[in-house]
Amino acid sequence: MMLGSVKEALSYGANTFMLYTGAPQNTRRKAIDELRIPEARQLMSARHMERFVVHAPYIINLANTVKPETYQLAVEFLARELERTKQMGSDLLILHPGAHVGAGPKAGIRSIIQGLNEVLSEPSEVCIALETMAGKGSEIGRSFEELAAIYDGVKYPAHLRVCFDTCHVHDAGYDIVNDPEGVLEQFDHYIGKEQIAVFHINDSKNERGAAKDRHANIGEGRIGFTPLYRIVHHPDFPGVPRILETPWYPDPHNPGKMLPPYREEIAWLRTGRTC
Ligand code: FE
Ligand code: FE
Ligand code: ZN
Repeated sequence: MMLGSVKEALSYGANTFMLYTGAPQNTRRKAIDELRIPEARQLMSARHMERFVVHAPYIINLANTVKPETYQLAVEFLARELERTKQMGSDLLILHPGAHVGAGPKAGIRSIIQGLNEVLSEPSEVCIALETMAGKGSEIGRSFEELAAIYDGVKYPAHLRVCFDTCHVHDAGYDIVNDPEGVLEQFDHYIGKEQIAVFHINDSKNERGAAKDRHANIGEGRIGFTPLYRIVHHPDFPGVPRILETPWYPDPHNPGKMLPPYREEIAWLRTGRTC
């Protein structure tokens, strides 16, 4: 399974990738030894692919104070995801901070902090990267202030990082269309640029501030190619993986079949030209 991810990433001309340890929508997971980790690591090193990142499933909600069993499941599952991430050889697990489901952001943030304190320990080889969120529903992490509040509350802030998702930041209301560098400076003010350990590079189907979270293909959404290109090539983030989460598109010759856009989008973002 991990081997498949490496092969797929290589087929797009990528030099890094992101994977889920199973379906993103559920918590069913294969045993570690069924993931073909040694073969995947071997192929990675043969092709000089150094880093990859893991994304925790969406259903983990540390911010849920309404249903204690949801919170409990989130804590237990997150602890196991950290272990799987380490076994696979990645140092980064991306996590959606959570949704307060009506209890309010304050209660949600308190719960996230408590949950992170339960799973993060010293020493730890894997950091948790909190993702910047669009603010859909009751999502926490729409503002840099909310993410900063989580950093301020946890016992081991050194084990936290951020995943900066361009679509989400735009949908949350930040003006990355006209001023991507300025938004990164704002982030720097609240959290610190060096905390960005991974970027999700996505265009957005919605207007700035729509709080929607609908990804568009590069150059086809409301953000447009140029701001995304500027973020990809920003000099302050050497070695920080840039991951695409753009939608697949229908095959023009075979409607019903979907094709991945990644090969073209990677080439375009690398060179600024279409290949
Ligand atoms: Fe995500
Ligand atoms: Fe994302
Ligand atoms: Zn998204």
